[in-house]
Amino acid sequence: MTLALGCIADDYTGASDLANTLTRCGLRTVQTIGVPPGDLNLPDVDAVVVALKSRSIEASQAVAKARAAEKWMRGRGASHVLFKICSTFDSTDAGNIGPVMDALRADSGNAVVLVTPAFPETGRTVYQGNLFVGSVPLNESPLKDHPLNPMHDSNLVRVLARQSKLRIGLVDLSVVAGGADAVRAHLAELSRQGFAAAVADAVFASDLEIIGTVALDHRVSVGASGIGLGLARALVASGRVKTNKATDISGNSVGGPAACLAGSCSQATLQQIAKAEQTMPVLHIDPEQVVAGRAETRRALDWAKTRLAESPILIASSSTPDQVAALQARHGRDAAGHAIEQAMADIAEGLVTSGVRRLVVAGGETSGAVVDRLGIPGFLVGPEIAAGVPVLRAVGARDGEMLLALKSGNFGGPDFFADALKLMQ
Ligand code: ADP
Repeated sequence: MTLALGCIADDYTGASDLANTLTRCGLRTVQTIGVPPGDLNLPDVDAVVVALKSRSIEASQAVAKARAAEKWMRGRGASHVLFKICSTFDSTDAGNIGPVMDALRADSGNAVVLVTPAFPETGRTVYQGNLFVGSVPLNESPLKDHPLNPMHDSNLVRVLARQSKLRIGLVDLSVVAGGADAVRAHLAELSRQGFAAAVADAVFASDLEIIGTVALDHRVSVGASGIGLGLARALVASGRVKTNKATDISGNSVGGPAACLAGSCSQATLQQIAKAEQTMPVLHIDPEQVVAGRAETRRALDWAKTRLAESPILIASSSTPDQVAALQARHGRDAAGHAIEQAMADIAEGLVTSGVRRLVVAGGETSGAVVDRLGIPGFLVGPEIAAGVPVLRAVGARDGEMLLALKSGNFGGPDFFADALKLMQ
């Protein structure tokens, strides 16, 4: 297997979003959970997305994990490695985007690293280095209230400069509009001036194609699924990858009981939970009780067991920003988040023991905790439920055949849970 593209994703839902984008562009793609163990039987693919759970861990650990993944990919022929981050640039001043970017650049030569979280089809655009979420700047979007990475500055040149030891420049839209050679000339000039990375503006998909074309000249780039799209299209246009039909994961239907878990507190997920109440039993677990001990998890599993045979169920920890802030004030941000993630993982494990083989999870960190607990080493990418959210079929899972959907909090329409279950038979 010689990889045309290697990708390192800083969370699991981001990885499946990217794998979905690459698949749509015609790249045969597999998503692995961490660096694959030697005995994992990987199909022949163009791209591998190694999913890490490194967005909110200590920066030095995130760097070590990303370096190990990069080494594995380079060993399989990947000449370009994309570090996949969230399209809302989720991070803090401590990292982890800057430290990982610095380390990957140091491992891969000294070219200027192109950075853009833009993904216009999902409403993420970058202009003059400022990230917009739909029509509002990042710092006015719901991301200002994120439980782990509240984003208070929309200027990504500034945000990244606070995290990185490198000098961060800008490739503004007028340069991108000039085409690939204009971007190359601008990067050469930035390099002469001592810049080591540059945030690239992108407002349309065509901007991403130009950025992707130029990024392929280099060994490393940083961005969301949008730059993945640009890289994939550039690989296909250059003939380095022949377009393939999406990996067929339809296979046998999996059947059996189905369940949904929501640990995201995003506005989109809160709305989706409210909508799900109309079609399936929903249990809201009490976050305060979750932090206090394991009784709440047992209560949730008892509740689920009596209902699973009848219909899919949804268990949610999600609360409004006020309630999240109050819980965090009492217990600390990390302790509260971790306790709830682990409770969700406990619940997922219990549900699988009860026979659930179709599982929908809302929330990036939440999905990470769940997939780790279930010990799933990798996924093949199937049909798209909503923009950026594919159906995933587990590869090499200890519990056998399973279908999952891992959704970043903000993704999906109001009927997301029902939409997912329809495609997961
Ligand atoms: P998203 O994809 O929306 O970012 P994540 O799962 O990545 O969702 O992050 C949500 C975080 O909030 C997780 O750490 C989760 O455990 C935590 N969380 C979930 N419910 C609550 C709650 N009611 N109060 C405080 N934190 C919560």
